[in-house]
Amino acid sequence: MNKLPKLIYSKALHDYKFGPDHPFNPLRLELTVDLIEKYGLIQEGQMVEPQSCAIEDLLMVHPENFIKVIEKASQGKESPDLLQTYGLGTDDTPAFSGMLEATQKVVGSALSGAKMIMEGQTDHVFAIGGGLHHAHRNKASGFCVLNDAAVAIAYLQRNYGLNVAYIDTDAHHGDGVQFIFYDDPTVLTISIHETGRYLFPGTGQVEERGRFEGYGFSVNIPLEAYTEDDSFIEVYEQTMEPILEAFQPDILITQNGCDAHYLDPLTHLAITTKSFEVIPRLAHRLAHKYCKGRWLALGGGGYDHWRVVPRAWTLIWAEMNEIELPDEIPVEWLQRWQKESPVALPLRLRDGANEFPPIPRREIITDKNRVTLRRSIRDAVELIMSRRAC
Ligand SMILES: [Zn+2]
Ligand SMILES: [Zn+2]
Repeated sequence: MNKLPKLIYSKALHDYKFGPDHPFNPLRLELTVDLIEKYGLIQEGQMVEPQSCAIEDLLMVHPENFIKVIEKASQGKESPDLLQTYGLGTDDTPAFSGMLEATQKVVGSALSGAKMIMEGQTDHVFAIGGGLHHAHRNKASGFCVLNDAAVAIAYLQRNYGLNVAYIDTDAHHGDGVQFIFYDDPTVLTISIHETGRYLFPGTGQVEERGRFEGYGFSVNIPLEAYTEDDSFIEVYEQTMEPILEAFQPDILITQNGCDAHYLDPLTHLAITTKSFEVIPRLAHRLAHKYCKGRWLALGGGGYDHWRVVPRAWTLIWAEMNEIELPDEIPVEWLQRWQKESPVALPLRLRDGANEFPPIPRREIITDKNRVTLRRSIRDAVELIMSRRAC
């Protein structure tokens, strides 16, 4: 059997879009997959066509009345008032024609990734169009109509009774996934993100630890604006091992939004491709150490679609395949896209060490992040251990 990692992608995923001026631009998927192909990183059988999920699959997480509203909006038939109630029709998440079908493809790609892993077809899947982490059970939010990660998690719980660890390193808090499983001790959500003080969605504080039976199983590390690589990586390294050791997950799901990059127009973190190379390596190691290799990686945010997203997500795919890529971006990729790009495309896969000006308050930021880290994980490990014992 071909156990090579799978990349779930086709142009059908481009139907999930909110219009030409919206930052969530499917071009980023095309640019990424083309870069992966130009690097020669796709072998036969590795690229898998996304399958639509069924309405019944969505119902594991989302209530029927919400799906009905999306269905009608998808056909242009819903009233603006009702759309607002469900988080649609806003500037961030406007309703669009064919929205339900497009979202079913995105959710289906995460879900079929989980299925492929559980059916033993492969251990690692990158569902590059997934990662719609802001969608709540009954409300669309922040470019996210329905929550693909949550549907995949619900499937894994129902069909296999698994303990799922979900790690979210998008610059925005993974609020949808966290709150959908907020009282569930079988789903551990860990989110490292820019503090919500000045950034959407505003949640993700250390004190959000879950509730009822799930108390202790939500972990948040809100970072200072302008956090750089070393601090970002330090936080990740020091968090994951002790918490996963306590939780003992059966499968790892990562949300790999790459909007924490220095160049990203929507956020204020200042990391580079260094983090986008190191963090998948660490996640990969965690998946093998704790989850028999089971690792479902999702995409997520990332709004510098010319310079950042293709490189960040190519690095994930290379890590899954255990391939060290040369630093020179293939000239064929540059030739194909430079004429369309409004900015100079990067010539190297990895940002140079001195590519961006250093942040003047680096020491203060690093110290503050360390304080947050200590506050966050100090109790998390004990809480998880004590809860698991009962
Ligand atoms: Zn592996
Ligand atoms: Zn984001």
